[in-house]
Amino acid sequence: MRIDFHTHIWNTQLDEVDTFVQNITALGIDKAVVLPIAPYMSNQAVADLVTKADGAIVGFASVVPFAETTGIPREDPLETLAHAVNVLGLKGLKLHPLIQGFALNDPGLVPVVSAAGDLGIPVIFHTGPSNGRAGRLENGRVELLDDLAVMCPNTVLVAGHANPMSDALYLARKHPNVYLETSISWARWGALIPGLVKQVVTEAGPDKILYGSDFSLDRDQRVIDTDAVFTSSGLSAGDLELVFGGNAARLLGLS
Ligand SMILES: [Zn+2]
Repeated sequence: MRIDFHTHIWNTQLDEVDTFVQNITALGIDKAVVLPIAPYMSNQAVADLVTKADGAIVGFASVVPFAETTGIPREDPLETLAHAVNVLGLKGLKLHPLIQGFALNDPGLVPVVSAAGDLGIPVIFHTGPSNGRAGRLENGRVELLDDLAVMCPNTVLVAGHANPMSDALYLARKHPNVYLETSISWARWGALIPGLVKQVVTEAGPDKILYGSDFSLDRDQRVIDTDAVFTSSGLSAGDLELVFGGNAARLLGLS
């Protein structure tokens, strides 16, 4: 089963879920994890997409963890998260340090990230730079998850866009609760440096890598480019199966 751990349906595309599902299916993806960013998209909207997609979408929640410092209208993040999981049935949490205005190792994240662990869901963080102007690049450095992994040992932390040229692989290797998601950065660096993908997967641990493309409507090329660096990587069929879906199925409780 092919699971894309990083996709988006944006707020302006909520009525295009059928097209989204047709497109990912044509690209060979069985299930797409759809990631919202609070407060720009509601958890209810994600739950509605899941219902419409008939099994092809795994919905994640998002909450604003630090509203006081960002001026973003506040809902209680713990209440919002519990509702999203227990009532709406969402399967994970997405947080974005640059857009939501926090550093990845801020101790103030501990209540909401630990709560996710208690609820049995993984937390995926945007890591690295982003194309927008929001936030300090420093706040999104993937290596900062080293601290959070220690502060929240019972929560699965997924480094989104985890740069294979960074120290991210050492985080995955040293922390049982840290996983690396591949979107954007693996296609970029893997295409430039032959052998890189196989080496990083092997050193981080094939059970710690989650295939993700950052697909959204009209971004088919992101899937094609990410697929290309993995299918040409020289990884064993067993390791590829873990990366392409086995690890995600395990984390998300899918069969
Ligand atoms: Zn994304």
